[in-house]
Amino acid sequence: MGRGVGTPSTGRSQGAEEAMASPSGRTLRKRKSLDKDQRRLDDLAEFFQIAAEAKSVLVFSGSGMSASAGLSTFTSPGGLYERAKKRFKVKDGIMLFCDSFYRKRGKDVRKVMGEIFFEATSSCPTLAHEALGRLEASGRLLRHYTMNVDGLHRLVDGMTTWSGRRDCPGKTVELHGCCREIVCTNESCPKQASDMTVEQGKAFRRGLDVLCEGCKGAVRPKIMLYDDSQSELITPDVVMEVMDADILGADLILWVGISFQQSASLEYFRNVSRVIKECGREGDVAQAIVNPCEESHFNAISGAGALLDDLKIIQVVSNANSVLADL
Ligand SMILES: [Zn+2]
Repeated sequence: MGRGVGTPSTGRSQGAEEAMASPSGRTLRKRKSLDKDQRRLDDLAEFFQIAAEAKSVLVFSGSGMSASAGLSTFTSPGGLYERAKKRFKVKDGIMLFCDSFYRKRGKDVRKVMGEIFFEATSSCPTLAHEALGRLEASGRLLRHYTMNVDGLHRLVDGMTTWSGRRDCPGKTVELHGCCREIVCTNESCPKQASDMTVEQGKAFRRGLDVLCEGCKGAVRPKIMLYDDSQSELITPDVVMEVMDADILGADLILWVGISFQQSASLEYFRNVSRVIKECGREGDVAQAIVNPCEESHFNAISGAGALLDDLKIIQVVSNANSVLADL
């Protein structure tokens, strides 16, 4: 028995049927693609309408914010993880950013961090960073939380950085530290954090130990590692209280250039969504996921699940530069 058993014959040859099916298949695909394009345009129009009325904007940013500056990303093909995997012959490049690996192979981790320092300090802020500066100047930027360690926002006029104190009004919170600074690992040292000098950057790039000028203890680049046992030195835990308080005052929350492939970003997204619900602000605050890659929206939605019930989440399929410039 073959195919077509029991199928009434139309009297047409198989070739004619294929010829009929082919154009209609194309039409269906075209229709779906048009529907999708229309949905994107509708989402974009809705987003800009909400953004135009927003008085208090909270921005979370990831590597997509700095992409046009030419900086290496972590997870994308050819990014830091992939390069580290080949160069240091490890199972996964993410290991270079884990505390346990740093304890075993500190020299290799210091080399990578030294390179990140030079890559960042030879780059310029993107149009998206500049747009943040304008948002701040207009009084509409509530806070900018970034997972980036490049510190490019620091180069924008009028942008300030949160110091780690609960009441600090600094506008950018560097959730995972900043490659432009070093911290002394000796907790009793009065000189906890300072700018990394070019000489210190070169020493790290060679994998060398760098000593504190104050206490002669070891210093490290101020970059958060996975399971970092010294996380308090990089970004104090009080940051989560500051974040919760900010969520109460926001009417628009942007997630810019974040792939949601890493657990930290999903944790922040879940936390923000949870706080919005706990405070009964579902109707007062909208969130937008701004990323040219559609997968990021899927990752966020599937990662947060039922936490998003009743919340307004808009997908903005576009890059950071063009969206922030139009706010
Ligand atoms: Zn010290």
